[in-house]
Amino acid sequence: MDDKQPLSNIHSVSLNAFKKQIIALKKHWKFVNEDEFFDKKELSTHKILLTFDDNYQSTLSNVAPFLETENIPYVFFVNSSTIEGNLLWRDKIKLLIEKDLTKDFIEQYNIQLSEIDFLKETKNPEKTNSKIISNQLEDFFQKQNILYQYYPYNTANDLSKFAQYRMIKFGNHSHNHFCLSTLTTEEIDFEIKTNHYFLLQNFPKEKISRLFSLPFGSFASYNQTTIDVLNKYGYLGALMSAPHYYFNGKSNLSLEKYDFVGYKRLLPKEYYRF
Ligand SMILES: [Zn+2]
Repeated sequence: MDDKQPLSNIHSVSLNAFKKQIIALKKHWKFVNEDEFFDKKELSTHKILLTFDDNYQSTLSNVAPFLETENIPYVFFVNSSTIEGNLLWRDKIKLLIEKDLTKDFIEQYNIQLSEIDFLKETKNPEKTNSKIISNQLEDFFQKQNILYQYYPYNTANDLSKFAQYRMIKFGNHSHNHFCLSTLTTEEIDFEIKTNHYFLLQNFPKEKISRLFSLPFGSFASYNQTTIDVLNKYGYLGALMSAPHYYFNGKSNLSLEKYDFVGYKRLLPKEYYRF
């Protein structure tokens, strides 16, 4: 998130538009912290829990001072592998596209995806196993001798500085951002556990969210094992993210089916009007 005009991407919003939207929402809705969000006695339907995903440095450094001034609580969900210096698979794909190496990559690993819609198709768990493609990309970059030239995430040191802010809590968005439903039981456990302990070792308990932000956040992104593991580590609910139409007609597949609470999230858009 920055002041530059975002690409025509529904998930991007400029800092200016973000601030305007937050101030407009604040007039009619109450931004609450996680305890108020869970509190059933707090009957107001006009409450919002604000969250961010993926540990981008530009997001946190831009929003943290603003939200502190506005007294708005929020949860910043991180992927612990980014703190170890790894690029998320999606940023590896962006690097591939920037270097114009998509065709070479597809041919070398015999990948059955369209070169034109490559980024979009890699997000579809029916077409792509995010763990396999992430490993192939790692292998490809090593063979091509391509080093990661940028690191867009917060380091552990950055995060500990932001932990001094009053309004922030940190949350678990898995270790690697793989699609959990495509992994084995041990791999799912690893993805959730690694981040769970990263948070516990680095932040006081009151700064850690009891929610889990599901990577990809659609009905295809989790399974019964995911829910079992989330229960095991004591999570109270999972956050989903998908366009509204995706949820329509799919309510029979909701997390409640697994006796687990799921929260649908409104995704940002540059041109929301209130
Ligand atoms: Zn994410």
